[in-house]
Amino acid sequence: MLPRAVATSSESALSGNLSALSGRAGVPLLLPIKAEAYGHGLGVIAPLAARHADVWGLAVATPQEAAQVAAMRLGKPVVLLTPPAPEEVGPLADLGVRIPVASPAEAEALPDHARAHLKVDTGMNRLGARPEEAVRVGQRLAERGLLEGAYTHFASADEPDLSFSEEQFRRFQGVLAALPPLLAHASNGGGILSFGKLPQMSLARPGLASYGFAPPHLAGVLPLRPVMTMQARVNQIHTVYAGESVSYNGLWTAQKETQVAVLGMGYADGYPRNATLKASVLIGGERRPTLGRICMDQMMVDISGLEVQVGDWATLWDAGQITVSDVAGWGDTIEYEVLTGLGPRVERRAGA
Ligand SMILES: *Cc1c(COP(=O)(O)O)cnc(C)c1O
Repeated sequence: MLPRAVATSSESALSGNLSALSGRAGVPLLLPIKAEAYGHGLGVIAPLAARHADVWGLAVATPQEAAQVAAMRLGKPVVLLTPPAPEEVGPLADLGVRIPVASPAEAEALPDHARAHLKVDTGMNRLGARPEEAVRVGQRLAERGLLEGAYTHFASADEPDLSFSEEQFRRFQGVLAALPPLLAHASNGGGILSFGKLPQMSLARPGLASYGFAPPHLAGVLPLRPVMTMQARVNQIHTVYAGESVSYNGLWTAQKETQVAVLGMGYADGYPRNATLKASVLIGGERRPTLGRICMDQMMVDISGLEVQVGDWATLWDAGQITVSDVAGWGDTIEYEVLTGLGPRVERRAGA
């Protein structure tokens, strides 16, 4: 069957973003491809990323994702960023997946062929060992010959005030000073854009920035380009007359005769329902408003006066007039949530 909605990822945009981010960080990238590569499609992005010279490895959030990427045999290391269950450690190590470690018990439980990345909690207070404990765990991993890397994560590197990130980095450096040389990584996208090169770092982990988005105050730092073009098919066209309303609860009523196109994407596919009465799309060469409630499987658009046929495609966002940032704003959310919320009915494709 034909897809109703297609998300196409631009290889050249991704490649340019990765080169720019790696250049600014001064180190190769451990590219986050968790959550279906921020919604772009793991199967689309992982092979493109693995071919890129500035990508050292691929970072995932779950053991399932780790196993999926390892099975692709892309020739680059896969690093798991969140703790596996004890019974998952052996199978992950067998697949060559790098395992996050944050406690003495986890360090002891690793098999001898595992490779570990020590997770240091420097103030995010989500995952990892506090600095003093991290030193002990790291030294034990090093004794066992299993310590490949160490990392921490910034809680607020996307904000203009960097004082907490700087404090986090000082704590991380304190831990590194007590360990043998290893692959150290800290910066996410906000960290790279804010700090550029950081001393002692071997890798950086830009997620959203790799896919083309920067926090507003850092927008000019690098020429990042949105990777995804999101399109939905016109499934029906009809006319409504003055006084008639469209969609649930009659939130929009026609003032005059209006041509309506019904697009094959709704909130079940990840288009934010909160964008109701705010959202526009690009269709027939123009920017046109949506009409009434965004539905589960559909959204309606005013195409009066346009040459649009059933089977044509509307662009919901791309790198031009309407971006994910606009859609996130209309939906009272953030780019991360719109992209990662794209549903399984959206077909993912690679494009030029
Ligand atoms: C998701 C994630 C990143 C990427 O963060 P961005 O804000 O998208 O750059 C980096 N490191 C860790 C540990 C993460 O979980």
